Amino acid sequence: MIPPKQVQEILDATRIEEVVEDFVTLKRRGVNMIGLCPFHGERTPSFNVNPARNIFKCFGCGKAGDAITFEGARKPYLPRSAALAGPEIQHRNSGSGALARTNGGSPTG
Ligand SMILES: [Zn+2]
Repeated sequence: MIPPKQVQEILDATRIEEVVEDFVTLKRRGVNMIGLCPFHGERTPSFNVNPARNIFKCFGCGKAGDAITFEGARKPYLPRSAALAGPEIQHRNSGSGALARTNGGSPTG
């Protein structure tokens, strides 16, 4: 376990928006930064990050905490957030270049 004092030191040295931005695309909205919550599926951003206070809060599912809370909480959701990122990438690729790919290499039986 990490002693509370050391936790505070870690938090002081950690920018929560940088931790969150590894998983969530954040946009600045006043003093906050908002994005799509990684903890529940949503189409409109209700996931708020407050860099000044180094905390996050989702107004959709109520998840809230600091950088360490986020690090601990996101882990079970990693595959899901990766899945959420998937369609967007595929959508970008579907516009051009898809036809250029050949589907060869299947073994003959
Ligand atoms: Zn949420």
